[in-house]
Amino acid sequence: MKTLILGGTREARELADIASGERGFEIVSSLAGRVREPVLPVGEVRVGGFGGVEGLREWLAGNGIEAVVDATHPFAGGITANAAAAAASLGLPIVHLRRPGWAEREADRWIHVPDLALAAEAAAALGKRVFLTIGRQGVGAFAHSDAWFLIRAIDPPEGDVPENHELLLARGPFSVEDEIALLTERDIDVLVTKDSGGALTEAKLTAARALGLAVVMIDRPPLPEGARQVETVAAAWDWLRARRETAER
Ligand code: NAP
Repeated sequence: MKTLILGGTREARELADIASGERGFEIVSSLAGRVREPVLPVGEVRVGGFGGVEGLREWLAGNGIEAVVDATHPFAGGITANAAAAAASLGLPIVHLRRPGWAEREADRWIHVPDLALAAEAAAALGKRVFLTIGRQGVGAFAHSDAWFLIRAIDPPEGDVPENHELLLARGPFSVEDEIALLTERDIDVLVTKDSGGALTEAKLTAARALGLAVVMIDRPPLPEGARQVETVAAAWDWLRARRETAER
């Protein structure tokens, strides 16, 4: 079964790893091409946008794709919507693999916000030294703040950045000890993050809890209406095998 995995996440790589070795599956992974030196999944990989819903629809039909796994990041709402629409218009089965969001604990001081603009407002009200861990995209929303920012991302942000900042280029996983040391050394009073979920970058939340710091948590955009969601690589793999069995009948 020829399957497109829309990737850019650890889960997408894990699924490609499992499925590529299996009889009856032909896997193509797709990356947007945002990260300069991406960690590549095993097997065939294509890189770059498809050209909206219509471009993706043509690509799916032209490449004989029979099933789609949208394993993109929970905040990659554009490609998720495009994939849902393109698959629906071709009658292709599609599942959205979304790891669970992070769970708030009793000692946490989280302020939930729905988007970057409100995250910038909340951060400005909460502190003067902000640890911004939202990735490379969206930093511009904080550009007009007078606060000082520690910006951590894999690649440098493009476009506007806050005037007072330090850029830390790093890729997780990070340890709780290192996160506590970083927050303490930089005298951080508020942390801003997307609710990405996953173990790779969770240590910053444990560190913020230990230090009693406020966290501005940007909530996830919703999945398209009626979308089928699974939360683990194992569940996505079960779904794929079930699709293949259906196709073989
Ligand atoms: P987005 O806003 O949902 O997508 C914007 C456009 O980028 C899409 O319309 C599509 O272009 C292209 N695109 C996105 N993901 C693609 C993929 N896997 N393969 C081919 N084209 C893709 O996405 P984003 O938030 O910029 O994220 C881009 C990629 O980075 C995603 O693959 C995502 O998994 C990964 N990522 C995102 C975040 C985040 O915080 N947003 C964090 C970690 C990793 P066309 O319309 O031309 O097809």
